[in-house]
Amino acid sequence: MTYGGVMTFAHRLDHLQVGLAAANIDAALITPGADLRYLVGYEAKPLERLTCLVVRAGGDPVLVVPALEVLAATASPVSELGIQIRSWQETDDPYALTAQLVGPASVIALDDHMWAQKVLDLRAAMPNTTQVLAGQIIAPIRMRKDAQEIAALRRAGAAIDQVHAKVPTLLRPGRTERQVGLDIGNLIIAAGHVTVDFVIVASGPNAASPHHDVSDRVLAAGDAVVVDIGGTMPDGYRSDCTRTYHIGAPSVEFAANYEVLLRAQKAATAAVRPGATCEEIDATARDVLTEANLGDLFIHRTGHGIGLESHEEPYIVSGNTLPLASGMAFSIEPGFYLAGSYGARIEDIVICTENGAESVNHQPRELVIA
Ligand code: ZN
Ligand code: ZN
Ligand code: ZN
Repeated sequence: MTYGGVMTFAHRLDHLQVGLAAANIDAALITPGADLRYLVGYEAKPLERLTCLVVRAGGDPVLVVPALEVLAATASPVSELGIQIRSWQETDDPYALTAQLVGPASVIALDDHMWAQKVLDLRAAMPNTTQVLAGQIIAPIRMRKDAQEIAALRRAGAAIDQVHAKVPTLLRPGRTERQVGLDIGNLIIAAGHVTVDFVIVASGPNAASPHHDVSDRVLAAGDAVVVDIGGTMPDGYRSDCTRTYHIGAPSVEFAANYEVLLRAQKAATAAVRPGATCEEIDATARDVLTEANLGDLFIHRTGHGIGLESHEEPYIVSGNTLPLASGMAFSIEPGFYLAGSYGARIEDIVICTENGAESVNHQPRELVIA
């Protein structure tokens, strides 16, 4: 397989079928979500009614859809791909239909994000099968982005950079995190995203909680403010970028810690190359912080993959011995968090290339005094 070019949907389905055959899995059942969009370009609504792409290791894929979704399915790339659409009426049993389309089988791979209700109904419809997760086959394919996906991640990165460029003007003492967050949400849409996925405006002691959202806390001089924001572009690809701002001059201690954090983020980025393992990248960032006695304050993994989902493989975490390969896209986001006092994080999305990391985010990483 090659990753320099663009993988067509047909090529992706082909990779899935090869993977299924190699793992002795008879079929994969994919319900609405990122995998379905990745494989056939169909952005289906996740509903209680069953929509399911049936991909047998051998044989043509078939899409099972409720009758009222046929027009939507037909308008997606599914028809161009020549995938047969099998619709079901309100009184039909779509699980029996799916089982019939799968045919004789002993091992079935289910979409990692399939609803439990659908998992149980499919199990009941195929009592003689074992179920495994389809992600073990699909994640390795999705992890390595093709040229089109990398271009999409660059556009997403440029869009979120535009938002960060305007954040300093929003961080005025007297405003609440929530007010700033609303402005940021509007800017995320204005920059070209179709949805706002998350807006973290964590000021003062709130910044010590990495997944703080927004609150009614009023910004004040002397606050460090962690702003971690992301959205989804029209093509489905996601942005995610963190910068830390400071209202007024920081303390000597905070400024010194921030310099260490910046070195950690740069060192981890510089360590990215094909063959380096995910845990090595995590250790590179962590070692810099640990040497400065900040290791205990870095309380999360260094990063996560990104693409059609905000968090996907590969995870940049201790224990993950997966070697990086060109085309992988993930965050590098070390931080330090001192409960009751302050926090800071610097996050870029990077692509692993033959020549090292390419960041899709370009806003300055130095502490910005707002
Ligand atoms: Zn290939
Ligand atoms: Zn992230
Ligand atoms: Zn983030």
